[in-house]
Amino acid sequence: MRYVLVPALLLALIFLQARVGSLADETRQAAAATTPVPPSAAPNAHYPSNRPPLAVSPLVKLPIGAVEPRGWLMAQLHLMRDGLTGRLAEISPFLKDDSGWATLKGKGWEELPYWLKGYGDLGYLLKDAGIRRETERWLFQAIRSQERDGFFGPPENRTARDLWPNMVMLAALQSYYEASGDRRVLSLMSRYFQFEFHLPVEELLPGSWQKLRGGENLESVYWLYNRSGESFLLDLAKRLFARTSDWTSPILTPARDKDWVESSFYHGVNIAMGFRQPALYFQQVRDRGYLEAVERNYRQVMDRYGRQPGGMFGADENIRPGKEDPRQGAETCTMVEFLASFASLLKVSGDPVWADRAEEVAFNSLPASMTPDLKGLHYLTAANLISCDRTGEHDFQNGGTLLSFDPWSYRCCQHNVAVGWPYFAEHLWLATSDNGLAAVLYAPSEVRAKVGDGAEVVVSETTAYPFGDTAEFMVSCGRPVDFPLYLRIPGWAARIRVLLNGRPLQGDFRGGRYAVVRRSWRHGDQVRLEFDPAIEVVAWPSIRGAVSVRRGPLWYALRIGEDWRRYGGTDEWPAYEILPTTPWNYGLYAGDGGPEVRLASRTTPPYQPWTPEGAPIRLTAKARRVPGWNEEGRMVGPVPASPAAGEGPVEEVELIPMGCARLRISSFPLVKD
Ligand SMILES: [Zn+2]
Repeated sequence: MRYVLVPALLLALIFLQARVGSLADETRQAAAATTPVPPSAAPNAHYPSNRPPLAVSPLVKLPIGAVEPRGWLMAQLHLMRDGLTGRLAEISPFLKDDSGWATLKGKGWEELPYWLKGYGDLGYLLKDAGIRRETERWLFQAIRSQERDGFFGPPENRTARDLWPNMVMLAALQSYYEASGDRRVLSLMSRYFQFEFHLPVEELLPGSWQKLRGGENLESVYWLYNRSGESFLLDLAKRLFARTSDWTSPILTPARDKDWVESSFYHGVNIAMGFRQPALYFQQVRDRGYLEAVERNYRQVMDRYGRQPGGMFGADENIRPGKEDPRQGAETCTMVEFLASFASLLKVSGDPVWADRAEEVAFNSLPASMTPDLKGLHYLTAANLISCDRTGEHDFQNGGTLLSFDPWSYRCCQHNVAVGWPYFAEHLWLATSDNGLAAVLYAPSEVRAKVGDGAEVVVSETTAYPFGDTAEFMVSCGRPVDFPLYLRIPGWAARIRVLLNGRPLQGDFRGGRYAVVRRSWRHGDQVRLEFDPAIEVVAWPSIRGAVSVRRGPLWYALRIGEDWRRYGGTDEWPAYEILPTTPWNYGLYAGDGGPEVRLASRTTPPYQPWTPEGAPIRLTAKARRVPGWNEEGRMVGPVPASPAAGEGPVEEVELIPMGCARLRISSFPLVKD
């Protein structure tokens, strides 16, 4: 017996030691630090990054195609392909063969490049040969249009001294280069920037939109500099910065308040694009004051006009002083341009707050700007919106139809909406300067990228986010590879849990930072994030005490019955009004303990979750009618002061994600007994 036992015991001991040894090993390798911003000591070794003397970017864009969306996000791209963006040429007069972009005679302004910028990216994301062919047909015409001195595009823009439409076309060309490696793009851009460089200074961004939007041009100059290293580009960048309107000073001023109709600084789309410009220039001058100016100006606008859920600010063409209620609305172009700016700022600064802000717009405002089949859209979307009719009986700057869903109207948004989901999808994952990967925006996806010493890894992300509360990441690699994986901890999260291969990691995983898992990754390694969002009732004291409900990345709105009435268009491309069929003038009932809101139901997201019927998550709230809250014309009245006078019984009402609701109340008064 003795002789049998001893070897068994020995074997067990050896096994135990080996096990403890490997566990200690695991723990040592899987250090989970957190950081407010990824490092920016040396540039990423695998992807084009800022060249000296530009400041090293903490986060770097992966070439288009590296990120593949999945699940509900892929569904949006498929719907786009089969809907307005994919088939816009059928109905838009700006995408015909008589466009100045093709004929080099007559008009060819922003519409075609707006569309092409998103349409092309859609094609690269979907690996759709038909879309790629059509994109190239237009881009090759633009390339062939280049004149001897470097100008390209419709000559009419040259006569008008208007460089704005070319700024948009450059972005479309850059994506094409990322997807194809076609060096004609670099040559075109270099010669075009030579043309800009040799313009008499007064002819460089002389006025109108281009003057406000020169940051777009600046960003493309840096893009080329990082690929070609031509030193004149840095001199051109200085000149462009100086010739662009001043976005470092406060945006809102008493003088502009008086002159709001005329002030281009008060135009919603100009703000959404222009405000980031100082942060772009920061890369060249490395003065953090420029980054601070951007944050200060964002805050200034949002603190006054953005006191509402959904991440947008009220600008129903321009910002209008005194029009600060959540019923005012934001233009669809403003949403997609805000998203593009946030993506830029995230790369330049690494600050995860820009990802929070991007998710807020993408998950709460953008989906409701379009019909669920993505075949129609409207001009203005508001946090409180009770009728998407076609009348002008609304208090907006512009008269006429702005709210009905019409594929034939809203010329700028109709084309520009194309960039919304594609830009969001391609920025889900970014490379880090220390040769790692960062999950910055959450959605079902897969990323293929070079990391560490150059090994290629695939990380697949399984999640129902923003509808689900967890995200799981699975690493695939041919051999073990060392690299840091950065996982953004959303700003709304108090604290999240991070698990590596099923075991919780120790760390201070507070919102507004990144968790950093640095280790030798092996094939099949898994990371799981548990967000555990709470239901919050957020107060807007300066909107007369109104409140809104949020849970994690989603804000919630009262579900209002929608009556879709076709009023125009064609059978293939119908135009709809949406009118309410159920009461909307509810206040949230606040008993002694405040409003009572609870989670009512959850389901797996359907193919198109952004509808009232498809909403994968629903809350219920106790509420009471507020008879004094009425329509003004066809528009919801301003939110009454809280506590508002309620009447009738306390009812249980359904709240759905505001992005699922085309009609909605998302800022409520409080009612008491
Ligand atoms: Zn627009």
